[in-house]
Amino acid sequence: MIQLPLSKLSNVGTTIFSQMTQLANENEAINLSQGFPDFMPDPELLNYVDHFIKKGFNQYAPMGGMIGLKEEIAKKIENAHQAVYHPDLEITVTAGGTQAIFTAIASFVKKDDEVIIFEPAYDCYEPTVELFGGIVKRFEMKAPDYEINWNSVKDLVTDKTRMIILNNPNNPAGKILKERDIQELITIVKDTSILILSDEVYENIVFDGKPHLSICQYPELKERSLLVASFGKLFHVTGWKVGYCAAPENLTAEFRKVHQFNVFSVNTPVQLALAEYMKNPDHYNGLSIFFQEKRDFLRLGLANTGFELLDCEGTYFQALKYDNISDKSDIDFARELTISHKVASVPFSSFYKNKRNENVIRLCFAKKQETLEKALESLAKI
Ligand code: GLN
Repeated sequence: MIQLPLSKLSNVGTTIFSQMTQLANENEAINLSQGFPDFMPDPELLNYVDHFIKKGFNQYAPMGGMIGLKEEIAKKIENAHQAVYHPDLEITVTAGGTQAIFTAIASFVKKDDEVIIFEPAYDCYEPTVELFGGIVKRFEMKAPDYEINWNSVKDLVTDKTRMIILNNPNNPAGKILKERDIQELITIVKDTSILILSDEVYENIVFDGKPHLSICQYPELKERSLLVASFGKLFHVTGWKVGYCAAPENLTAEFRKVHQFNVFSVNTPVQLALAEYMKNPDHYNGLSIFFQEKRDFLRLGLANTGFELLDCEGTYFQALKYDNISDKSDIDFARELTISHKVASVPFSSFYKNKRNENVIRLCFAKKQETLEKALESLAKI
């Protein structure tokens, strides 16, 4: 075996999502860990893919994406947020949200640049920043409210701050940013050259009639922001790995310098199918209601158990505090839940660099009614 040089990511192992899914499969447990739907997408969308493949659209798409899809994306953003992006120059179709995030960081973060993230944080931000020599500064949001103290965030800003990464709605905490959060953010970044990478892959899953405040609604933020979204979450096709990045022309030009060597372009028939399907906004306008029913079903089923339900304002994840049930660490508790009670979850400590343990786990409710019922049957016995 050859001697390897020092790992570029010495602290990184396999993601918690893969680990918990594997544990779920090994134990034949109901998998509420990794965030993916266990039901079929709309047959209409599947038929479009079939149609375009058979029609012969099987060669490279243009590097930035098929124009028809980029136009539909621009329309969707404008209708939702009154924000205008030029389809050809300001929208790039990517191989999922994670690739868009990777490429955005790769395009702008240099050695010793500082990047602020909010924890609990989705797991790809930090390693990607590190890979390009950047330094992560973190603000820890804490249970049960996961609020942001913007004065503390302000203290993290230095003249080396290159980027702030937001995740709104937040995976795993299920929280959304409020108007006051955005106004605080504007105060912090105005008169600086700080960029914002806004991971909004759960933008269409926001509950109780609350608004999703996108970064693009605020001109002071839009001009410095890379907005990332995902069709996997929008149309229940996480395995298709298609998303996009919307950003002003100057940022998009830099983004594409990396994108062209990272993936070059994203698969053609799926882009054409998505474009066709997006022409009817009803295909995504009801998503919040669809998932709110699942959230409420899960919450109702857990209401009389020892679990404490934390707020869930958006995403398809429900956070549960289990102090009344066990004093095990969240990792041990999640393992036990999978092995002995046959329900897999994700421990919150995996979303913190310092493995902060507040006895909280995450359940994914993007599942069939029958799956949720089975999981509840088991959870109610604990
Ligand atoms: N986004 C999903 C989650 O949070 C899955 C991510 C993954 O498996 N890489 O569970």
